[in-house]
Amino acid sequence: SLTLGIVGLPNVGKSTLFNALTRNDVLAANYPFATIEPNVGVVELPDARLDRLSAIFDSARILPATVSFVDIAGIVKGASEGEGMGNQFLANIREADAICQVVRVFADDDVVHVDGRVDPASDIEVIETELILADLQTLEKALPRLEKDAKKNKDLADTVAAAQAAQQVLDSGKTLFSQRDSLDLAAVRDLHLMTTKPFLYVFNSDESVLTDEARKQELRDAVAPADAVFLDAKVESELLELDDEDASELLESIGQTEPGLHSLARAGFHTLGLQTYLTAGPKESRAWTIHRGDTAPKAAGVIHTDFEKGFIKAEIVSFDDLDTAGSMAAAKAAGKVRMEGKDYVMQDGDVVEFRFGS
Ligand code: GDP
Repeated sequence: SLTLGIVGLPNVGKSTLFNALTRNDVLAANYPFATIEPNVGVVELPDARLDRLSAIFDSARILPATVSFVDIAGIVKGASEGEGMGNQFLANIREADAICQVVRVFADDDVVHVDGRVDPASDIEVIETELILADLQTLEKALPRLEKDAKKNKDLADTVAAAQAAQQVLDSGKTLFSQRDSLDLAAVRDLHLMTTKPFLYVFNSDESVLTDEARKQELRDAVAPADAVFLDAKVESELLELDDEDASELLESIGQTEPGLHSLARAGFHTLGLQTYLTAGPKESRAWTIHRGDTAPKAAGVIHTDFEKGFIKAEIVSFDDLDTAGSMAAAKAAGKVRMEGKDYVMQDGDVVEFRFGS
């Protein structure tokens, strides 16, 4: 499954956040035989629609979709030159599908900032620059070989052109992801360039920031179109020790209506380009993970690979229509249940039953 790699400068609260993520780990609860890797935190994607489906279908259990975060050892200035944890860091980041940067916004004189002051914009630039430099190094090494091979193999001309275009973008200080529309990133996929990955920013904030809408908007604008999440990592880890009532009180005291881990899960899911569809019955109400834009047969394949090949059609009702109707029978009577074929592109909130042949 796809993962987000958690990165950030030292002392910004990565470990604190990651501990909260692993203590909230759902694998242990729902999949007792799953292998749990120490550096991966798997959290549920909150989805109130599943509670409603479970009530309508009298389901025995609810299985939400999940999002996986990988803890990646600290980045430092100079990582691209192999300083400190540099090389291991870059190797780990290559394996992640998106980059989740924790940025310190909280003020606390007891916690030293590596650069001596709290400066989110500069922290973001430090990490971005290291990744850009690392990609430039990769290209500098790869290009001479590619150019040489392209003389013998004309098929490589596109790859060379794409690599050169990527090099120009990086030279101008921009990430490849930010310029993906004008680049042929598929042609350079084998180079595993890191700035082709989407970014998500987690602003580790304190109460003064969490309740300051203008400040949050400023930070959101600074990283747009990337997603921004605001949370207090220390509070997030404290929340997990409290019962529901005390947790709500603590959240309320810092002006929040839900745990930051919930918004982090949603933003992570979105950054990875994922979407869910829903199935429901007496056994379970469940959210299944697909890529945005997937067709119905692809979606069926997530349940079982055979289902993609044997796909005939899908019976689909939107969650909102089912919710309003109150039962599948009532939704059918109201003409809200559709039959969709193999070209149908799945929509968020589709409640589905697939029909198969063999
Ligand atoms: P890492 O180096 O990025 O993994 O940072 P840590 O998670 O180890 O946090 C560094 C220090 O900052 C620790 O003393 C944490 O308790 C503290 N810290 C982390 N998050 C917060 C926060 O949201 N507010 C405050 N005041 N301190 C925090």
